[in-house]
Amino acid sequence: MTSLPTLYTADILYTGMGLPIRDGGVVVSGQTVAAAGPRAELRANYPQAQEVRAGRVISPPPVNAHTHLDMSLYEFQSLPYFEWIPQVVIAGRARRGLEGAQTGLEAIQRSGAAAMGDIVWHPEVMEWLLTHSQVPGVAYWEVLDPNPATAAQTFASTRERIEGWRELERPGGLRLGLSPHASHTVSHRLFRMLAEYAGAEGLPMQIHVLEHPSEAELFATGAGPLAESMARMVPGLSVADILGREPAQGLTAVSYLESLGVLQARPTLVHMVNVTSADIRAAAQAGCLVVTCPRSNRHLHCGTFPWAEYAAAGVEVALGTDSVASGETLDVHDEIGAAWTLHPGLDPRQVVRAAVKGGSRVVGGRVPLIRRGEVWNAAYLWPE
Ligand SMILES: [Zn+2]
Repeated sequence: MTSLPTLYTADILYTGMGLPIRDGGVVVSGQTVAAAGPRAELRANYPQAQEVRAGRVISPPPVNAHTHLDMSLYEFQSLPYFEWIPQVVIAGRARRGLEGAQTGLEAIQRSGAAAMGDIVWHPEVMEWLLTHSQVPGVAYWEVLDPNPATAAQTFASTRERIEGWRELERPGGLRLGLSPHASHTVSHRLFRMLAEYAGAEGLPMQIHVLEHPSEAELFATGAGPLAESMARMVPGLSVADILGREPAQGLTAVSYLESLGVLQARPTLVHMVNVTSADIRAAAQAGCLVVTCPRSNRHLHCGTFPWAEYAAAGVEVALGTDSVASGETLDVHDEIGAAWTLHPGLDPRQVVRAAVKGGSRVVGGRVPLIRRGEVWNAAYLWPE
């Protein structure tokens, strides 16, 4: 005797193709998908199916497109971004390392994320992740050096490290990437070298850009709380020294990166909260993907990501948790819930698509399809 098929239903169904639909369902027979589509249609076509309400979403699992696993032993703290960097990230740097990364990777696995984009600060963490992570995606080596005088030296040591790590990449594991930390913490000279190198080597890139309003102020006037904080952290180095040009009204981190030729290497831009409409157009034209971290942005007083404007411009958006120090948890499902709350005007289906398809595009993965004949996976039923 064969058992009856099951009709799983949810508020949102994303099959991995096109736009997610509302009030969808999937008919599963044994371990195989028999049909996926609008619930009412499936109900009519499969009257014998036993209906099981799955909850809010049926979809391939989401991707956590931006994390800092090696910061997982930090305590969560909410402060303005320009205070959070020195008081939390730098003050707590002894907590950053392999133990944090191992704790973080366990959390990622528990969350059910399909893949991740992780920013790596310690060489031993990079080596461990490349050889051990069962979660695929990209491990981006983070580079931070605002001093143009040391650009050549920093670039040479970066290249040497990358070349050494390349042989540790393995199928099913993480790929190597590069992350020039932020538009204001890497000198103009080093930015050009890193972007050119990443382009030539096919290394995916992530850059923190326009996270806090003070970053926009730094590029426009060279002043403000972030500029003051930078002056304390790197004394003797002016904003003009770092950028290789004077700050100016109308200059933004995005137009600056574009002028350096960095956007042309199609980096993934992380945060992008305090942007102009021209910045959004520039990102769209360059074909850059954008990652948003709604909880981290809120906790660091960054403002609200202009999601609808990105969607209108055709920019692919992805979701990331950032580190536990600003995002609280590494569970991308928590981030999806926060995105629904913090963007009440946005169609909730956009958030689901971003977390799955957008994230997959960032880390270069493939989204499994939920359609007739494919193998059913219980992980497609998202937790509430
Ligand atoms: Zn980050």
